[in-house]
Amino acid sequence: MSDRDLLHPLASPATAWHILGAGSLGGLWATRLARAGLPVRLILRDAARLAAYRAHGSHLTLIEQDRCVQWPIPAETADGSEPIERLLVACKAYDAEQAVAALRPRLSAQADVILLQNGLGSQEAVAALIQPRRCIFASSTEGAFREADWQVRFAGHGFTWLGDVQDPAAPTALLDDLHTAGISHEWTPDILTRLWRKLALNCAINPLTVLHDCRNGGLLEHPCEVATLCQELTELLQRCGQPVAAHDLHSDVLRVIQATAANYSSMYQDVAHGRRTEIAYLLGYVSAAARRHHCTIPHVQQLHHRLCQHLAAKGLRSD
Ligand code: NAP
Repeated sequence: MSDRDLLHPLASPATAWHILGAGSLGGLWATRLARAGLPVRLILRDAARLAAYRAHGSHLTLIEQDRCVQWPIPAETADGSEPIERLLVACKAYDAEQAVAALRPRLSAQADVILLQNGLGSQEAVAALIQPRRCIFASSTEGAFREADWQVRFAGHGFTWLGDVQDPAAPTALLDDLHTAGISHEWTPDILTRLWRKLALNCAINPLTVLHDCRNGGLLEHPCEVATLCQELTELLQRCGQPVAAHDLHSDVLRVIQATAANYSSMYQDVAHGRRTEIAYLLGYVSAAARRHHCTIPHVQQLHHRLCQHLAAKGLRSD
């Protein structure tokens, strides 16, 4: 028995955080959890990515206000053998289901799985795949981007809401870790409201910034287009049983456009860098919901169509 055990005879070992995807948000969470002394393991895409990480020195760098700190964090691929008690899914929405499927054999029966994906659709798919295990949905306003492989810049402080649509009881040990790591968060029984609201904000702003080739603030020159989309999105949210997410959507969209006027939206940046977008989990999800609820949203559907054509012309996928 060690001195530490004698001092804390009842202390149980901390649950390891397995983090699937060491990109922007995965890196941001991994480094802050590691900095707090919590056990973290990265799960990388394949053997080639693992070899690249090891060749780099098996550490992630967190850049905060031009201060760079390296955090050594062990990594593995999905076919490791250790059982997983807590999994943070930090890949893009279009990768989530397949990536979690590869890890399912390793998830313990009591595992908590936290989903950071933007939009809607991927969460339901993962929840169905891993049920009856606990699936926690998250919605975050934090901002991070990769300056290089294994190097993440904390670009915008924000807040993360977490919740479980099946069970309102807060997972206290997990939330304690977030507190220890300084990750601003709140547990909410209304996580779906948060996700729907963010989905609607993203649908009203991001595609237009791509099509008009502008920063968020550039949309102030297209007030009628924004207003029409907000009207249709409001109607759809109400039809989908999301009246709180629908409330005052247009004013909130205008507030976000003004507050982030100098920024390029995430979809704009994806397209500018020739990366696949998460359109299927934003406009794609909204269009499918409209069909299911027999709700007519012609301008949103036309926007979806125009965006798909724009992406195809650039050789980018629209699924
Ligand atoms: P990202 O920088 O592209 O990182 C995604 C990571 O997932 C990449 O490192 C990728 O690996 C990895 N990955 C993909 N498939 C994998 C697999 N099968 N196994 C292991 N790793 C896999 O994306 P992100 O910006 O962090 O975004 C993640 C999610 O968070 C998105 O849904 C996004 O909308 C949401 N979000 C992001 C932010 C932000 O500020 N970045 C804010 C709020 C919400 P490779 O490195 O090998 O490609």
